[in-house]
Amino acid sequence: MIKVEKLYKSFGKNEVLKNISTEIKEQEVIAIIGPSGSGKSTFLRCLNLLEIPTSGVISIGNDVVTDKKTNIMKVRENVGMVFQHFYLFPHKTVLENLTYAPMQVQGKSKAEATATAEDLLRKVGLFEKRSEYPNRLSGGQKQRVAIARALAMNPSVMLFDEPTSALDPEMVKEVLAVMKDLAESGMTMIIVTHEMNFAKEVADRILFLDGGVLVEDTPPNEFFSSPKSERAKEFLEKVL
Ligand code: ADP
Ligand code: MG
Repeated sequence: MIKVEKLYKSFGKNEVLKNISTEIKEQEVIAIIGPSGSGKSTFLRCLNLLEIPTSGVISIGNDVVTDKKTNIMKVRENVGMVFQHFYLFPHKTVLENLTYAPMQVQGKSKAEATATAEDLLRKVGLFEKRSEYPNRLSGGQKQRVAIARALAMNPSVMLFDEPTSALDPEMVKEVLAVMKDLAESGMTMIIVTHEMNFAKEVADRILFLDGGVLVEDTPPNEFFSSPKSERAKEFLEKVL
C-alpha cells in the first residue's frame, strides 16, 4: 500500500535520509525506532509531504505522492497524522475539533460530521468531553482527541510521531490502548516511538533508523532478541 523507493532528504548540506526503500502492506503496523536525530520524524513527514523529499519515489495507494502533479491536499486527507504536541484547535470544543475538517475540507454536512465524530469519541472514551475545550483536558485526553480528529477524515493510513513522549507516565497507557485498538481494527499505522514494549507487542515490523540510514527492517521478535547490526545492539543496550 505504501512504497518508498530510494528516498533521500537533505536540509542544506545535511543529508538526513539516505537511500531509504521499504514497502508497507495494508493493515501492517510499523514501529520506527532509532536514536534522536536519526531522521525518524523527517521520514514520517516526507510520507505526507510536510517535507519535500530531495529525491526518490513515494506512493500511497494509487497516488505517487512525489509526483509534482499530485494534489498534496488530497494526499494529506488520506494520511492522518498525530504529533507529540497534539495541536488541537484551542478555541473549538472537542466535538468541533473533530467536525471542522470533514465539513470544511470534505464538504460533509454538520449532521454527518457530528455523527462520525461522536462515534469516534465513544471509541476513544471521550464522548462525555465532547463539549469541553482542550485546555480542560489532560494530556492523555488531548492526545486521544487528536487521534480521533485524524480518524474523522477516514484516512487509509495513520502516522504517529512520538505520540506519548510529551505525556506524564500515567497517561501513556490510555493513549497506547487507543492505538492498540486501532491496530487491531486493521488500520495501517506507522509509529515513531520510544515505547519498546508497545513496539514489541503491537508492531508487525520494526524499522531501525540510524544516521538517516534504514539499518534494520525486521519483525519485532528478531529485532529485540537478536538485532543484526552493531548499531541496533548498542541502541537497545542503552534503552532496554
Ligand atoms: P528524529 O525524529 O529521529 O529525532 P529528525 O528527523 O527530527 O530526527 O531530524 C534529523 C536531522 O534533520 C537532524 O539533524 C535535524 O537537525 C535535521 N532537521 C530536521 N528538520 C529540519 C529542518 N526543518 N531544517 C533543517 N534541519 C532539519
Ligand atoms: Mg523526531
